[in-house]
Amino acid sequence: MFQYQPPLKDINFVLADMFQAADVLQQYPGFVDVDHALIQQVIEEAGRFASEVLFPLNATADAKGSALDNGRVITPQGYAQAYHQFCEAGWPALACDPDYGGQGLPHTLNSVLYEMLNATNLAWTMFPGLLHGAYSCIHRYASDHIKNTYLPKIVSGEWLATMCLTEPHAGSDLGLLRTKAIPNDDGSYQITGTKIFISGGDQDITDNIVHLVLARLPDAPAGSKGISLFVVPKIFPDGDRAGQHNAVTCTGLEHKMGIHGSPTCTMQFEEATGWLVGEPHRGLAAMFVMMNSARLQVGIGGLGIAETAYQNALIYANERLQSRAVMRPEHRKTEAADPIVMHPPVQRLLMTQRAWVEGCRMLAYYSALLLDGAEHHPDEAQRKALDEQLALLTPIIKALMTDQGFAGASQALQVYGGHGYVCETGIEQYMRDVRITMIYEGTNEIQAIDLLMRKILADNGKRLGMLLDDIEQTIAETTHESLASATTALLALTRTLRTLIPEIGQAGLSYPDLPHQIAPEVLRLVGHCAIAWLWLKAANVARTLQDKDPDFYLAKQTTAQYYFTFVLPESQQLITVIKQCLANAKAGQHQNYQTVLSVQ
Ligand SMILES: Cc1cc2nc3c(=O)[nH]c(=O)nc-3n(C[C@H](O)[C@H](O)[C@H](O)COP(=O)(O)OP(=O)(O)OC[C@H]3O[C@@H](n4cnc5c(N)ncnc54)[C@H](O)[C@@H]3O)c2cc1C
Repeated sequence: MFQYQPPLKDINFVLADMFQAADVLQQYPGFVDVDHALIQQVIEEAGRFASEVLFPLNATADAKGSALDNGRVITPQGYAQAYHQFCEAGWPALACDPDYGGQGLPHTLNSVLYEMLNATNLAWTMFPGLLHGAYSCIHRYASDHIKNTYLPKIVSGEWLATMCLTEPHAGSDLGLLRTKAIPNDDGSYQITGTKIFISGGDQDITDNIVHLVLARLPDAPAGSKGISLFVVPKIFPDGDRAGQHNAVTCTGLEHKMGIHGSPTCTMQFEEATGWLVGEPHRGLAAMFVMMNSARLQVGIGGLGIAETAYQNALIYANERLQSRAVMRPEHRKTEAADPIVMHPPVQRLLMTQRAWVEGCRMLAYYSALLLDGAEHHPDEAQRKALDEQLALLTPIIKALMTDQGFAGASQALQVYGGHGYVCETGIEQYMRDVRITMIYEGTNEIQAIDLLMRKILADNGKRLGMLLDDIEQTIAETTHESLASATTALLALTRTLRTLIPEIGQAGLSYPDLPHQIAPEVLRLVGHCAIAWLWLKAANVARTLQDKDPDFYLAKQTTAQYYFTFVLPESQQLITVIKQCLANAKAGQHQNYQTVLSVQ
């Protein structure tokens, strides 16, 4: 039977052994009480909620899905109760400002919570998943009146929120959006337009829904510089119309590949009343606060899915008997067949999943700590530096971790063989569900372009250089001979990146499409560099702690070696592609494939 065990030991390894999270966090004002015991307690409770409440709903909700009944969305049975339990336990408020009813705890804990929620029920998690982004966006940009009206309800979870960006003709390119906002005399706006693919656009879980909507004012310049952000409640919270419905309706639900429990709504705004958040025409910047929060969370979703897929594939591989293993222990010599976990190719499938899951977890929590530092470090220059690092890593977390979420689910399905492809075992749902994470919150292609163009080339590789400096420092500190080949490989990689980036920038001056063409390779390469760095740190830490729990810490070191032997060499292929494209450009043979693609 499909199952989920919260990976508490590994989370603890990353937070406590690798990053000394409690010590780091306690340096920040507001987190002085966040000690190891508190972190443990929160994580254990989160694991209990995810495994005991959410996980049992996952398969049944997938089978039933959300439905539209007379303009009202009906969510799967058990979703609303689970959500109310979630709110009663105070989970929506975890990392929110105490001034609005929040618990004021670190984002790092919220990230662990969301790994486990996504691991057990991705579709359900999309409801609260948007809450924190909405909270951050309103908290930072809205007027005091809007803050006081909406934030306490969002923080308590009493009202859910949506993110209304996409329109039929405007997906990745939000500059094309047409939804209009006409000013009213009383300072509010009339919002008219159609939004599609809106997650949780309607639901029967909360009494009210806070829509954050992108629209254009009448005098708006064309393109993305003419977009404003509005808060549009489903039900008016105050004023003359308190309690009345706003002119927002769900006119359709998508039938889709996965996340059946999450209603993906077409939303019609017909002169709905909304209020401006932030400055006119600066809505995209405000919305980016929500999107960045969502991007980290979506990446962590990929991690959660890969964790559950791995756990179950491992259990199955220990139970399924097929063929005699090449290496059989004495006590199995008379058995007709061995567990498939004894076959090296199955071990490879499982070890690859494990190396990515554990590596991505290190990257996720490293980044979550950056976010806490970027908001709470007492020194402004430090806050800025941490924010810059996080900006560099955000597209990597979103794209690499969701690519690996899908790859991990696929490898897990392979371990199940035909029994994975049929529905009963549960793994195919995970593979269907996780696929969307590579698309929404900015497709992974858009993330790669964002990384290379805005985060790397735009500052001439300064942010990337800081990451590479940190990596090279860890390499210099790693002296144990068992890691010699790993440090050599990683050092070669950082040096290659330092030379490749200016070359890509240079080639882009002659061929502006070239950086876009190789952006996916660059993202994966920088991602490998970051994860290899963290594996090196993990191996160092595990070696020093080895006597405490030999099985665990030796397994950690062996998994690090596996990453360096079987996974990291992919970086050579990525480098080959990038170098070949640069060489072609130098030789005046750069290709844009539009012409070929027009040939039948
Ligand atoms: C289940 C689901 C839930 C969603 N939830 C929400 C939500 O809550 N709120 C919301 O606003 N939206 C939501 N979306 C929309 C989602 O964010 C968009 O689907 C996504 O941004 C991509 O837009 P698109 O589908 O129009 O694809 P397009 O933008 O048409 O892209 C199609 C392909 O072209 C590529 N592409 C496009 N432009 C470029 C470029 N400049 N360079 C390189 N490649 C490019 C893309 O990477 C992609 O491979 C959801 C979508 C789904 C399916």
